[in-house]
Amino acid sequence: MGDQATGGPGATAASLPWVSVDQVLLAEPRGFCAGVEMAIKALAWMVRTFEPPVYCYHEIVHNKIVVQRFEAQGVVFVDDIDEVPLGRPIMLSAHGSAPEVVAAARARGSYVVDSVCPLVTKVHHEVKVRAGKGFRIVYVGHEGHEEAVGTMAVAPHAISRVESIEEVAALPQFEEPVALLAQTTLSHRDWSDVAVAVRERFPATWSPGRSDLCFATTNRQSALMAMAPRCDAIVVIGSSNSSNTRALEKLALEAGCPQVFRVNSVHELPDGLTGTVGVTAGASAPEELVEAIIAFLDPAHGVELLRVTEEDEYFPPPRNIRELQTAIGVAAAAMVGGPREASASFDDRGLAASDVLATLRAP
Ligand code: SF4
Repeated sequence: MGDQATGGPGATAASLPWVSVDQVLLAEPRGFCAGVEMAIKALAWMVRTFEPPVYCYHEIVHNKIVVQRFEAQGVVFVDDIDEVPLGRPIMLSAHGSAPEVVAAARARGSYVVDSVCPLVTKVHHEVKVRAGKGFRIVYVGHEGHEEAVGTMAVAPHAISRVESIEEVAALPQFEEPVALLAQTTLSHRDWSDVAVAVRERFPATWSPGRSDLCFATTNRQSALMAMAPRCDAIVVIGSSNSSNTRALEKLALEAGCPQVFRVNSVHELPDGLTGTVGVTAGASAPEELVEAIIAFLDPAHGVELLRVTEEDEYFPPPRNIRELQTAIGVAAAAMVGGPREASASFDDRGLAASDVLATLRAP
């Protein structure tokens, strides 16, 4: 990453001698995916509904600014459920948790919301079913990543994790049939070579009809690839522990872009950006960071949106939040003597997580 820019909060590229950007190419889709939208709105609901502190197992999503914003609202992030005092509300993160963590949270918390992304739940389900049918699961995922840890814990006795062709070659010759599954946020390049190697070693390998790689990861990578050939530099916004952000950064380098910078915020932009600059953001990076960076770059010939697809996926809130919201609405209607149908309905889909996040800013 580049040196910290020193222009101060009001400075733009035009007012700084070392930054002279002609144009910004802005990738679309970028930033928050449907799973992150759902998780952020769910945690914001918890914060507004319960007395602090609300506890959250693991970072709700892998983004520093999102985490800090919630910490300022009294959310305590823990990496061990035993750190949660008995009887407090608990949120489980979007990356998915091991079954024993979910059970421990339910035993300990007063009200537990699991904000796991439905696409991660799908992989957990595939692991459970295939392990139950006697398969050996070869799982392509990053060592130590929370999603991979949670997924492998579904059937630890039946899973072998790999992330390189060499690791596939080092696998034993399994007696049982082999199933091939993946972490949702891998880049296509990281996935495809390893998947080919697994199928070569185990020709009868089973894999799901639809790949485990999620639409949001794939769409953000396609948008990046569309803009990369035109860019003198690419700025990828997102945290270092965000798998899909790191995949974007890696892909931009592999695409041959001469300069690639992953930044957490405008303050980490490097000196000397010139020409055409591509901007994209990982699935857990808020749009306010994109806006701040474009304002700073202040391109002489404006911003061109490079949209590769329309992304309109939506995941509703976790079920127990929906049920509680409905119950509160019905109770409120009953209190004023109205019929059950008179309970106020709430348009969750129309509410953007970035707007919710903005309301959590310190005054
Ligand atoms: S990146 Fe994909 S798998 Fe991860 S939370 Fe978003 S939609 Fe779900």
